[in-house]
Amino acid sequence: MQTPVFLDHLPDVSDVSGGKTERYRHLRNNALLELLLDSSTQWHDRDCPACGSPVAQSQTFGQAFIPFQRCAACNTIYAARVPAQQRLDALRLQLPQAQPGTTPAGDEAEDHSFEFISTLNWVSLTAGHLGRGIDRVLDYRFTTHAPRWEDVVAKLSHNRRWQHLPLAAETGEGFDDLAEAVDTFRPDAILIQAEMDRVASPDRLLDRIRQAARPGTLVFIASSCADGLEYELLGSASPSFIPLDRLTVFSIAGLETLARRLGYEVLEKSTPGRRDAIILRQYFLQANNDNVPFWSGFFRDADKDRLTDLQILLQRSLRSSLLRFVIQT
Ligand SMILES: [Zn+2]
Repeated sequence: MQTPVFLDHLPDVSDVSGGKTERYRHLRNNALLELLLDSSTQWHDRDCPACGSPVAQSQTFGQAFIPFQRCAACNTIYAARVPAQQRLDALRLQLPQAQPGTTPAGDEAEDHSFEFISTLNWVSLTAGHLGRGIDRVLDYRFTTHAPRWEDVVAKLSHNRRWQHLPLAAETGEGFDDLAEAVDTFRPDAILIQAEMDRVASPDRLLDRIRQAARPGTLVFIASSCADGLEYELLGSASPSFIPLDRLTVFSIAGLETLARRLGYEVLEKSTPGRRDAIILRQYFLQANNDNVPFWSGFFRDADKDRLTDLQILLQRSLRSSLLRFVIQT
C-alpha cells in the first residue's frame, strides 16, 4: 500500500478566505434552503454511507440546515438525510461555473491551477510506481465544478487520451451516463474528483463503476477528509464545511471499508491537503478563539516554517483535510 507525501508549498491566506469563497458558500446555502422550503422535496434517511453503522451509533456533528452526524465506528461525517440525486444535480447546474460555454470571470472564477497540475502529476506518479500504462482516462464531472480543467488537460496531458463527462440534466439516480461512458470509452482509469462528498449515494456511484468497468480499472478518488485537523478542531465551524457540498465527508477508515465492501482493492491512500495549517492559524488569530488548550498558543506564535512543518506532519500521518485514494476494480 502506497502512502505518498506531497511536499507542496502552502497556499496564500487569500486563497482560503477570499470573497469568492464566501460568495460561493452563500450560493450553496441558498440552494439548500430552497430544497428545505420546497415541500415536494423528498428526503431519504440514511445510516453511515461509508461503513454502514446505524445512525444511532453516531454523534451529532452539527445542525447546518440539516442534521449532520459523525460515525462512532469509522469517523466519517455525513448528512443523516439527503434529497434525491436529480434535485442535487439540478441545483448544481444553476451555479455560474456550470453554465455551458461560459467561463466565469472575476469573483466567480476560482483559481484551481495548483489543483489541476497536482491532479495530473498524481495520475502520472501513480502510473509510474504501479508500473501501469494509463492511456485512457475518464473524468467524471470535475469539469462542471472547474470549467478550466478541460483546457489545462488539453494543454499539459499529451500522452493520455481524456474523456470529460460533465454533469448533465436528467442523468438519473443510477449514474447511467457514467456506466455508458465506461462501456464505450473503456478507460484504464476513472477520475472522481470533488464528487464523492457531493452525491446522495457515494456507494452507488462506486458500485456502478465496479459493475461497468473492466477488471483492473483504476479509480482515482479525491475528496474532503473527516480525519483532517481542520475538521477535528473546528467541527461544523470549519470554513471548508459547505453542507450541500459535504453530504459525506469520508474518513480514511470509512472510505477503505466502503471500497473493500464493494469488492475493490485499495492501492494507495494519502492526504495531500495544504490548507489546514493556514486555515487554523486564521481561525485562532481571530478574537475570542483563543481558549483551545495547546492549539491556540501554537497557532498564534506560528511562523511560516512552523506551519509548513505542521502541514507536512499532517500529510504524513493521514490527518489533512483532503484525501486521495487509488482503488482497483
Ligand atoms: Zn461509519
